[in-house]
Amino acid sequence: MKIYVSVDMEGVAGIADWAQCIADGDDYALGRDLLVGEVNAAIEGAVAAGATQILVNDAHSAMRNLPPAALAGRAAYLSGRFKPWYMMEGLDASFDAIVFLGYHAAMATPGVLSHTYNPRAITNVTINGTVTGEAGLNALVAQHFRVPIAAISGDQHVGPEAAPFCPGIAAIAVKTSISRYAARHEHPETAREMIRDGVADALRRGTEPPTITMPATIEIEFLSPDMATQATWIRHVTRTGARTVSLTGDDPMSLFQAFISIVYLTRSLVETR
Ligand SMILES: [Zn+2]
Repeated sequence: MKIYVSVDMEGVAGIADWAQCIADGDDYALGRDLLVGEVNAAIEGAVAAGATQILVNDAHSAMRNLPPAALAGRAAYLSGRFKPWYMMEGLDASFDAIVFLGYHAAMATPGVLSHTYNPRAITNVTINGTVTGEAGLNALVAQHFRVPIAAISGDQHVGPEAAPFCPGIAAIAVKTSISRYAARHEHPETAREMIRDGVADALRRGTEPPTITMPATIEIEFLSPDMATQATWIRHVTRTGARTVSLTGDDPMSLFQAFISIVYLTRSLVETR
């Protein structure tokens, strides 16, 4: 059994602030330790369920947050920036299941460190009218390769938010968001146990690949109108309002790639001050 783990960081138990998950943050070392613990718990759960090959795709920030030698199960590690398939880079049809680890809520959802790919440009995204976070968008790639998404870990919001796009996904809530910058966390050992058991159970049970209705429409709302203008430079993207664009297509991978192109493109308009 071959398992793909897409790793974000904001959803890890113990993390509630950017300073804990951005490389120059004053508490990044702590965040990284907490992250490694949860990634390894997911790997151990997968191995317990029969996984023989594991690929860990680092999908957070500069996407090189993990010390490769610290990964359990001799997992292969995909790291670094400018990956065409971003949080789903390295997935192909040979994988049996996917785990989303350390995921966070969508920008429009009241979860800890909520955002949708770019917190300084994108204020909301829907697929076929339903609010989606990163899990639902990434599910387009899983749908293309027909690989089921077995489990997701993060706060109490990530599971329900992923469910419309990832049929049968197991939600592992390792913390409860109080505000965008506060959460009640399970103890790291408890969180790891929940992930280990949750991933193993989900893989043993099995789930179906995503079946997002095609043709699908992605609607994106931006922080400022100039970002929406720039998004229309991408083929098939149409303006629907001052700060909104829409994109319809019948191929999940093309839709995902267009969305990622918009993410990369609108970054040039983000004010960094
Ligand atoms: Zn992240």
